[in-house]
Formats: sequence, structure tokens, C-alpha cells
Amino acid sequence: MTLALRHVAVVGASLAGAQAAQSLRRQGYEGRLTLIGAEAHLPYERPPLSKQLLSGQWERSRIDLPMDEGLDLDLRLATRVTKADLRTRQLTLEAARPDGRRSPSEYLGFDGLVICTGAQPRALPHLPEHLEGVHLLRTVEDCLAIKEELAASPRVVVVGAGFIGCEVAATCRMLGLDVTIIEALRTPMVRALGHRMGQVLGQVHLDHGTKLRMGTGVTDLTGDRRVAGVRLDNGEVIEADLVVIGVGVAPVTGWLEGSGIRLDDGVVCDATCAAMGNAPPDGHPAALGNVVAAGDVARWWHPLFERSMRLEHWDNAARQAEVAASTLLTGPNGARPYAEVPWFWSNQYDAKLQFVGTAEPGDQVEVVEGGTDDLRFVAAYGRKGRTVGALILNRSARASPYRRLIAQRAAFPPLPE
Ligand SMILES: Cc1cc2nc3c(=O)[nH]c(=O)nc-3n(C[C@H](O)[C@H](O)[C@H](O)COP(=O)(O)OP(=O)(O)OC[C@H]3O[C@@H](n4cnc5c(N)ncnc54)[C@H](O)[C@@H]3O)c2cc1C
Repeated sequence: MTLALRHVAVVGASLAGAQAAQSLRRQGYEGRLTLIGAEAHLPYERPPLSKQLLSGQWERSRIDLPMDEGLDLDLRLATRVTKADLRTRQLTLEAARPDGRRSPSEYLGFDGLVICTGAQPRALPHLPEHLEGVHLLRTVEDCLAIKEELAASPRVVVVGAGFIGCEVAATCRMLGLDVTIIEALRTPMVRALGHRMGQVLGQVHLDHGTKLRMGTGVTDLTGDRRVAGVRLDNGEVIEADLVVIGVGVAPVTGWLEGSGIRLDDGVVCDATCAAMGNAPPDGHPAALGNVVAAGDVARWWHPLFERSMRLEHWDNAARQAEVAASTLLTGPNGARPYAEVPWFWSNQYDAKLQFVGTAEPGDQVEVVEGGTDDLRFVAAYGRKGRTVGALILNRSARASPYRRLIAQRAAFPPLPE
């Protein structure tokens, strides 16, 4: 363990932050530990926000993240870190006041820093901001606000056919609402699944009566005080009582601008999750010994896929935080690379979808188990003769074997275990 580590600050008190704090203790760190989170809540799960909590199937109390007993944490909730100074090893903190005014800045020293500030939803800046009934979805407050309005909102429009948009649409449709998804790209979930499998999932939405407007841009929202419709780029207006915008997320790195930490669509890390410093004018960037990152905010070098990536998946946030904590404690010499095969799940209607590995435009896609007709199948993704991904639909037990095949760099198409 690095002897100089007397105070570790973990910034971001959600899945990755909570996991990092617990991992530090589980791995033997006994020094001072501060967990700072901008939200007013103890860490909670986000996946139910578009599924069970939104549908009313679950109560709010079910989404709290279980935490180890006796963590001896200095927990600073409702507190935002606005600046990190690596030279003086000091964070600038701003606590939210109940009256909504800004409190005076506080300063907190640290020896080790774990960056877990996640991601925040992108807005569509050309759309009016003042209308009621228009929502983003990231926090429990967002979810409860949408849920409260659903009862009086028979017509829901979801802008964006990524995973969160598609899950919200499915949940609303299962509640019996009239739902339209509008997406600028031609296929739902195309970035994660590619065109062919995105079409298969799109058909699932159509079969459940959700309307899809693919390859269509949104130019405006109509309504005076409350939203009344969504104007498309062909001039048509889709009437709406409630609009959810799900057009992707951006990593939260604004507070690190000027800190000397290398930023490029996330915190740039090496294979062990150690954050990189900016390159000196005459040299190469090097890993910073006392700063690590994990979760949706971290862009790290994946040794198996031999490229840098940033993921927005639950499993990644949890596992990467454990490795980041270990890297911080052991220092660069003993650190191990984080080389997990990515895995995420999504539930839409009765479709239980899992994806392991990665998908890129141009990948070969072959159904290797079952068939798409009855929606129980595995589709493998191949790149340069190697199996790099697999979509598993309604065959939950098949995710682990394909994850192993991908880790073993199996040839494409794979021979199922
Ligand atoms: C609606 C929804 C559904 C999802 N469903 C699935 C799913 O089905 N399957 C799946 O694999 N993944 C799913 N995900 C993704 C998964 O929840 C995320 O990958 C995971 O939450 C990432 O955790 P994180 O801790 O890295 O970041 P986040 O959960 O984004 O947490 C970051 C935390 O840092 C705080 N913070 C930010 N800036 C500061 C600052 N300057 N100072 C202090 N605190 C700060 C934020 O307030 C936030 O609490 C879903 C996400 C959402 C939103």
C-alpha cells in the first residue's frame, strides 16, 4: 500500500463512488475516507428509474444501494466539488443550502482522489426550456416527476431511441399510454446493437403498439405553459402531454477543467484506471500516481479490445471502481489492468436483453443460437475474424459463456460452449 495515503477523497456518491469507498476499506485502507456527492441522497440504483420505479412496481425504498457496515466514512451529501487542484492537493466544495442559495466555498485536502462523477443527460439546446411536461431522466427526482405526471398524460413522446428512451417508452406503453419514439438515426439502439439487431428490437416496440418515427429530427416543441406537441423536421406536429428527452449523456468533467488531468470525452486513464496528466509540451502524458477514475466518467485503455473506451453500464461502474481502488492503494507498480468484457442488460416489455462485449459499425452479425422469430436467441458480433460481442435475448444463462468466449478471443463465428 502507498504509505503516503492518509486521506482519500471519492467524488461522486453513486454506484462507482460507493463501490470505490467500500473497495478501499475491503482492501485494507484504514486512513481518512471522504465521499462527496452532489445529490442529497445516499447512493441509489439508477436502472429502476426507467423500469420498476417509473412503472410503480417498486417503492422508492427498494432502490437504495446496500452499503457495508462500519465504513467509517466522512459523508458529504448535497455537496458539489467545483474545482480540483492537484498541485496543492485540494478540492473546492460547495454545499447546497436548503434555501437554494450558494454556500461559501470550503476547501478539502486529499492525498488520493477517486473520480466517480458519472454522466449527465444531454439536452437539446435548440428546444424551448420553459415548458412544463418536458423531462430528462437521470435522478430519482427526475423519475418521480415523470411518474407523477404520467397519470394525466395519455400521450407520451420519447425523443431518442437509445436504451433509456426505449425503456421509458416500453414502461409507459405497458401502463397503457399512447407512446411515440422519435429518433434522428434510422434504427433504435443502433449505436449499441448495430442496424440489424436494432431493427429486431424496433419490431418488438412496434408489436407492442409503440409508434416509431426513425430518421426524424425534432425542431421545436409546441405549447404555451405546458408542452402540447413535438414538431418534426418535416413540419408535422406529434401531439404530446409529456415529453421525455433521452438523447444520450455526457461525462461530468467540468469541475476538472484546468486541473492538469487529461480530459477527452471523460477522464483519460491508463489500463489500470490511473488518471493521466496532460502531456508536457515536450513529452508524453503520464499516469498521475494519486488519481484514479471509475464508472461512466472514466475513459480507459481496454487491453482486450486494444482501444480506449468509456462505458455507461451498471456492471462497469461497479467492477471498475474496485480496480481503481486497488490501483490507488498499490500504486502504479503493483496495479492490475481492468480488462472485464463489458456487460449490460435492458428490460423492454417482456424482452430481457443482455449485451456482452462491444459492437461497432461494420461488425459481422450472425444468429448463433435460436432464432429472431420467437425472440429467444443469441447473435454473435465478429470483427477481423474474432468474436467481440454477443446480444442475448431472453436466454439469460447464455451471457456468461459468451463473455468467456470473448475474453478468450474466440474465432468468429464462435462455437458455443
Ligand atoms: C434511467 C437509467 C436506467 C439505467 N438502466 C441501466 C440498465 O438497465 N443496465 C445497465 O447496465 N445500466 C443502466 N443504467 C446505467 C447505470 O445506472 C450507470 O452506468 C451507473 O449509474 C453509473 O454509475 P456512476 O457512479 O459511474 O455514475 P452516476 O450514477 O452518474 O453517479 C455520479 C454521481 O456523481 C455526482 N456528481 C457529479 N458531479 C459531481 C461533483 N462535481 N461533485 C460531487 N458529486 C458529483 C452525481 O450527482 C451523481 O450522483 C441506467 C441509467 C439510467 C439513468
